[in-house]
Amino acid sequence: MEKKADEIIKVLKAKGLRVTPQRYAVYANLLSRNDHPTAETILTDLNKDAPTLSQATIYLSLQTLRDVGLIREVLLQEGVCRYDANVSPHHHFLCKRCGKIEDIPWETFSNLSMDKLNPKLKVDHYEVIVQGECNSCDCL
Ligand SMILES: [Zn+2]
Ligand SMILES: [Zn+2]
Repeated sequence: MEKKADEIIKVLKAKGLRVTPQRYAVYANLLSRNDHPTAETILTDLNKDAPTLSQATIYLSLQTLRDVGLIREVLLQEGVCRYDANVSPHHHFLCKRCGKIEDIPWETFSNLSMDKLNPKLKVDHYEVIVQGECNSCDCL
């Protein structure tokens, strides 16, 4: 998923966004990882070397990136919002012990059927959340 700087700038521009250092930093950070970080994790990560970004800036950048569909919010735990730069359809695994979130390829549940659902419900989207223990917790 890692993209080169000029590609990231192109993607931001294609969405009609002004490329600010903050937006760039937040998006590049999210693209470089797949652990679905919280805003706080991104903030800590980006300010590791030099504390230049404020929490408000991070939130604002995340909001903007989400509004144009470059990133998505992942809400698997109550009150915890995490972010994902993978916006193509996929499912999630959530470790109940450490909170680790891992992507599950869409094809994994490709033959899920909606046939038994109440026919009055109009489904436009679904995703599966698998919960359990991740491999690092499993061996504790
Ligand atoms: Zn775990
Ligand atoms: Zn994901």
